[in-house]
Amino acid sequence: MSEAPVDPAQASGAAPPAEGEGFAQSKKGAKKAEAKAKKEAEKARKAAEREAAAAAQKAASGGNEDLAKDNYGDILPSTKVAADKVQLKNLGDEHIGKTVKLRAWIQNARMQGAKMAFVELREERNWTIQGVVSASAEGTPVSKQMVKWIGALRLESFVLVEATVQKPLEPVKSCRVSNYEFHLTKTYLISPGPEVLPLGLNAANRAIASFEDEDPSQAAAAPTEAVENLSLAESAAAPSASLSTHLNNPAMHKRAPVQQAIADVRMTVRKLFSEYLESKNFVQFEAPCLIGAASEGGANVFSLPYFEKQAFLAQSPQFYKQIEIAGGRKRVYCIGPVFRAENSNTPRHMTEFTGLDLEMEIEENYHEVIDMIEGVMLYIFRGLEQRCKEQIELIRAIYPSDDFLLPEPGKEVRLTFAEGQKLLREEGPEEFRNVSDDEDMSTPQEKALGALVRKKYNTDFYVLDKFPEGARPFYTIEDPENPKVTNAYDFFMRGQEILSGGQRIHRPDLLEARIRKKGIDPASPGIREYVDVFRSAGVPPHGGGGIGLDRVVAWYLNLPSVHLTSYYPRTPKRLSP
Ligand code: ATP
Repeated sequence: MSEAPVDPAQASGAAPPAEGEGFAQSKKGAKKAEAKAKKEAEKARKAAEREAAAAAQKAASGGNEDLAKDNYGDILPSTKVAADKVQLKNLGDEHIGKTVKLRAWIQNARMQGAKMAFVELREERNWTIQGVVSASAEGTPVSKQMVKWIGALRLESFVLVEATVQKPLEPVKSCRVSNYEFHLTKTYLISPGPEVLPLGLNAANRAIASFEDEDPSQAAAAPTEAVENLSLAESAAAPSASLSTHLNNPAMHKRAPVQQAIADVRMTVRKLFSEYLESKNFVQFEAPCLIGAASEGGANVFSLPYFEKQAFLAQSPQFYKQIEIAGGRKRVYCIGPVFRAENSNTPRHMTEFTGLDLEMEIEENYHEVIDMIEGVMLYIFRGLEQRCKEQIELIRAIYPSDDFLLPEPGKEVRLTFAEGQKLLREEGPEEFRNVSDDEDMSTPQEKALGALVRKKYNTDFYVLDKFPEGARPFYTIEDPENPKVTNAYDFFMRGQEILSGGQRIHRPDLLEARIRKKGIDPASPGIREYVDVFRSAGVPPHGGGGIGLDRVVAWYLNLPSVHLTSYYPRTPKRLSP
């Protein structure tokens, strides 16, 4: 409490007034001064009271101090959240009322008034949950400042949260976890998202808008998308982006649940391929990528300096599969990169793709190989139906497609090349009325035949056998009964080639003769060493095939391009990321 003010006359130390008139006057003055002092004292008392009331109120409310300040903000090395870790896909009623912790991305954040905010938290793929954060009257564990901070978190920031699991009043339609929500009690920012996302998740998770041939040197500045405050479920109106925008923003391209589902299907195909072949006693081997001679063709082989020499990137593991058979392996397979220096800017081609290759001894007839390849493909298709049901559904919601039609067991479709051409001539489109049995099929012919086969045999998977001699490489064996055709086949999915294969020549004399017939010098680099393998030891009859993994995935899912199925597509115009 402040002291009463002192009379200024006294305080100044001036002499007291003299007696008489002066005295009378001073008596009056003293009264006046006394009244004034009283008034001042009253004023001071009231001010003190006001101050005391304000201080009491401040103490009661916590004042301006943020009582939740330790429950949010940038994560520190000392930050610890003791609650149990939870995975969204495992959330159940047993978690209700429990406090849990989760690391997740901010998929959406919005304020609801000054005291409440909603966030959508994405743990992985499309596993999302609604987070609610609401300031309490006491200002802890959540304060208004904390709510404001969370509501302003940038999209795709990575956070650690502590929350109590609760049942929402109504299911949260915008989130995959719709029956529970998180009531946040702590939120720490581990890694902030950018101010503006160059490719938002909504766009990344939509069908690619265009597959224009992009020029990487011009593609650095990706079109920016307006910051979205929409959940994935509300994203129908979000813009879609071109393939170059996707590929120039690999982190967001890969965060899209659809891309992760495609990657799952891809890896499942690889696994199923190995699984089936190993159950049939195939052994895996590894073929080299760097080779010393462009032995299989020449024109479409990448070359590179190799010390003082030149090296090439293998355009197939063909010779190596055969060397394995020559080396006494009865059945082999390999999975690896294949390089083609073809300037083909089509949805079917890449300059690097993954080959699923196999080779096996033939005991009686090369149809043993066709049986095996048919078997492995059907195993893959049936396996995908079972193991990737969820992913296929997710992909179909974005890239709609009809079911991939499989032949009934025992009714697999195998046509000879000549039968396929006949079907095209007789029942195909007008422009294919005169197709010849001696010339390879064009892509439009293949597609038209695929449509005819689907209609006639109710399958999207079939084999064309006995390709014309002119359409197959020098190592393919000719049909002993009709040298105009070969013991070689292609496999098709939805009318598009996914595999080429055949019986190989295993006798060096026949091999050399066919090499000459094809106009190739048997002594040329690479060829001579190849033929020498068959001269060096007797090699059993054998055959096999090479499957393009990227195409199997793309055509099974009916995607518009193989570039979508590859992790890092390489095309004539793209070498990054
Ligand atoms: P295409 O005629 O379609 O270019 P190809 O006849 O050259 O193919 P092969 O050399 O027989 O193909 O290769 C076997 C398989 O490898 C093909 O059926 C296909 O699945 C895949 N493949 C071939 N080239 C490519 C490529 N450039 N990009 C992606 N996959 C390919």
